[in-house]
Amino acid sequence: SAKAAGRNTYQFFTPEMNARVFERLSLENSLRKALPRQELMLYYQPQYRVGGGDPIGFEALLRWRHPELGLVPPARFIPIAEETNLILPIGEWVLAEACRQQMAWQRAGQPATTVAVNLSPVQFRQRNLVSLVQRVLAETGLPAAQLELEITESLLMDDTERAVEVLHELKSLGIRLSLDDFGTGYSSLSYLKRFPLDKIKIDQSFVRDMIKDSGDAAIIQAIIAIAAKLELGVIAEGVENQSQLDYLALHQCGEVQGYLFSPPVPAAEVCRFFNSATRAPAPMA
Ligand code: C2E
Ligand code: MG
Ligand code: MG
Ligand code: MG
Repeated sequence: SAKAAGRNTYQFFTPEMNARVFERLSLENSLRKALPRQELMLYYQPQYRVGGGDPIGFEALLRWRHPELGLVPPARFIPIAEETNLILPIGEWVLAEACRQQMAWQRAGQPATTVAVNLSPVQFRQRNLVSLVQRVLAETGLPAAQLELEITESLLMDDTERAVEVLHELKSLGIRLSLDDFGTGYSSLSYLKRFPLDKIKIDQSFVRDMIKDSGDAAIIQAIIAIAAKLELGVIAEGVENQSQLDYLALHQCGEVQGYLFSPPVPAAEVCRFFNSATRAPAPMA
């Protein structure tokens, strides 16, 4: 009983808590084996100019095919990978695999596009990040200008001085940098001019409600205006329907990504985006 166990000790471990701790531990254990067992894979989501045409880039998104649990979404395992530092080998694999895949497509005749890779703040704190990126580019042969790294605002907050330095070193390799989930973090506007960014990604939460929520619509217009003034590119994430696309076109958003065009798909399916019989949706006006 709780009493026998002493004050404030065992009674906190309810059966549900035990189950949760067990689940977390077993997920962590199987995540350790995921890379060597080749259970990780990348899906790719196309990115378009607002006017339509062929994809101009792809975002690589990590998937875990767990032998018993099936497809585990990144929201469930990336936090564990970050807490355990497993994100370092996993992130290195993601980077190399995305660059290798992009070059394989090109060698097979697919037009050259960018490939965007999400970078965890944990990877960013890694000392050898810049040389890792440099090595992957050299080993895969991907031109640096075709690699885009997606970073988040939290990473810029941590150690601002060092962040500025590392981002400049990355930029000097010739790669592109984009700021993911913009508007959801601390969103200090001064970041936009202090850091050597190429593009802002408007978070999907604003896009989702912009047609019925005038506040979200105003935020989107403001982000687009600031990006234009600072000569940054701007892409809206999570575009799901035609009215969102029309609104973004009306307000001169540059690029779009979302289920309206396609969900993320396995690498083998990417060739169909370049088939002229399946044109991407374009704005009405
Ligand atoms: P993110 O980088 O902001 O990626 C966008 C997420 O929105 C993806 O979820 C994508 O599948 C989803 N999405 C795309 N279009 C739509 C849409 O029209 N509507 C809706 N509702 N969702 C859409 P996903 O693949 O589950 O990834 C979730 C997050 O996990 C990513 O957010 C990113 O933060 C993280 N993540 C994914 N892959 C990696 C990776 O390789 N490394 C790291 N560090 N993080 C990753
Ligand atoms: Mg992203
Ligand atoms: Mg995002
Ligand atoms: Mg996100």
